[in-house]
Amino acid sequence: MFQKILIANRGEIACRIMRTARAMGIGTVAVYSDADAESAHAAAADEAVRIGPPPARESYLRADAILEAARATGAEAIHPGYGFLSENADFAEACAAAGIVFIGPPPGAIRAMGLKGDAKALMDKAGVPVVPGYHGADQIGLKSEAAKIGYPVLIKAVAGGGGKGMRRVDVAEDFEAALESAQREARGAFGSDRVLVEKYVARPRHIEVQVFADRHGNVLHLLERDCSLQRRHQKVVEEAPAPGMTAETRKWIGAIAVTAARTVGYVGAGTVEFIADASQGLCPDRIWFMEMNTRLQVEHPVTEAITGIDLVEWQLRVAAGEALFKRQSDIRPRGHAVEVRLYAEDPANGFLPSTGTLERLALPSEVRVDAGVREGDVVTAFYDPMIAKVIAHGETREGAMAKLGEALSKVEIAGLRTNNAFLIRTLRHPDFVAGDIDTGFITRHLEELAPQTPPPDEALAAAAQSVAKGNLADTDDDPWSRGDSFRLAGASRQTMDFVVDGKYRSVTIPLPSTEFGVHILKLTNGDLAAMHKGETFVLHLHDPLHDMEAEGDRTDRVLAPMPGKIIQVQVQAGQSVRRGDPLVILEAMKMEHTLSAPRDTTVESVDAVLGDQIAEGAVLVRFAGEAA
Ligand code: ADP
Repeated sequence: MFQKILIANRGEIACRIMRTARAMGIGTVAVYSDADAESAHAAAADEAVRIGPPPARESYLRADAILEAARATGAEAIHPGYGFLSENADFAEACAAAGIVFIGPPPGAIRAMGLKGDAKALMDKAGVPVVPGYHGADQIGLKSEAAKIGYPVLIKAVAGGGGKGMRRVDVAEDFEAALESAQREARGAFGSDRVLVEKYVARPRHIEVQVFADRHGNVLHLLERDCSLQRRHQKVVEEAPAPGMTAETRKWIGAIAVTAARTVGYVGAGTVEFIADASQGLCPDRIWFMEMNTRLQVEHPVTEAITGIDLVEWQLRVAAGEALFKRQSDIRPRGHAVEVRLYAEDPANGFLPSTGTLERLALPSEVRVDAGVREGDVVTAFYDPMIAKVIAHGETREGAMAKLGEALSKVEIAGLRTNNAFLIRTLRHPDFVAGDIDTGFITRHLEELAPQTPPPDEALAAAAQSVAKGNLADTDDDPWSRGDSFRLAGASRQTMDFVVDGKYRSVTIPLPSTEFGVHILKLTNGDLAAMHKGETFVLHLHDPLHDMEAEGDRTDRVLAPMPGKIIQVQVQAGQSVRRGDPLVILEAMKMEHTLSAPRDTTVESVDAVLGDQIAEGAVLVRFAGEAA
């Protein structure tokens, strides 16, 4: 076995590979970009080598810098993780040339499966059923091929990955435009605009088979995974085994996957991906090969959970020349496992990636969590915004789903937006629970799954209570900690206003103080994060006086901070006032707001009239003299 390996990756997968290496007594070398100098993966390794600035092509994609790091540290093998250089045959060759073991398949196998079109042709010849369609090199006459296949069709970039360069076309009239845009995207992303056209499978389910091969001619499959829950052809929830998979179909698809691996002389961990027409369950005559991923997959933990096999350990053993010591008959599914990809993104806003500091990051401990970030880390725009993968294993599918939903409801994340609540809703959706899934699930249920819900009353009450108690860590200039900052006429501080997603919410604090099961954190920008059952609500304490005071030294007037009714006028023209003296009391949103003098000055005129209903921004009091 190796003494030391280098992990040519970052984030959760780098941390995960190191975990197994460490357990096996193997030393670890991390490589990192400047943006990752303080990252979890660099900290987790025995040694860490800087390889360049953050853009991947200047660091994580730089074969020369990575090989140099391996040489300098004496690493005998390189694990590429997924993404980056993991399916780069030239890199695998360069490793061999440098006398370093590439922990992955032989370059020839990577190349054979590298282009979807050529891989399909090869598989077709080997007797593996492929999605009906056209996958030739000739790119003229694609439209007539589409007509032959019959609409709907899918145009796919042959060099594609990550769902890019893919367009579904439902009618012939749309073909040219879709082709053009798929080609444009493919050219930009992969440097090649070659596409294939295939039948768009009805009620598609993504079923994939984990395969493993050693250098001694043994090829096994480690059962299937179902990755049908996708958004824009990208996996969101993965599970194993596939719901509704019969023993007969499993045997068939497993054998086909093994054939695929053997055909290309595969070694190591790989995944053969299939698309199934699940309109009548999963049956062999409606399952077709899509492509093979010649690396460890993001979703490998669900396979580990149901087989009890550490796939990274197997990868290391195979790379070191050991033979697989299990037989196919030893591999049986145990229970059910499900994984979700917890992302820094905003489902309510088109799943826009969210960047920022993880001011709070608490992940559940009763399930497996593969994370690549820690509390305090910054999620940047340079890399994939995945925070963690969370994986639950149960006796039954229902049990696994319930366990994961429960675990996610304990997640606390503040400082950026995440898809956690979206994931919880997905796991608890009745159709999902019933196993009624296909790749259109998320799109079909988006309205139920994606929107940001308003904070529940207990989140607001807990926030108000924290503010009232003043038990939030503060700085001196914090408006909430100042005695004069938030005054309610004639009452103690029992009611407060918050601004949540641009809307006002008023809350009255219950007395005596109550435990709400809500964790309140004051963010660095002064807002409050209320974390409740896996959701985070960002609350801004509406403090009209503070808003005014912030401008106080510069302004010569007091404006109504919100629409309301003037219920008291306490000053008149010519009167001298001291900073903080009450001027006008406004009733708005069922409460009274005292507007006071921002500085020591003289009242020039009073525009506020008792009993008047005024608009936001209306001038209430003007002061004499120059603004300081
Ligand atoms: P990529 O390599 O970009 O991930 P894939 O070929 O693996 O592309 O396809 C990604 C996803 O697109 C699949 O998981 C599936 O949801 C969908 N898909 C691919 N081919 C078809 C097809 N012929 N019919 C229906 N859906 C498909």
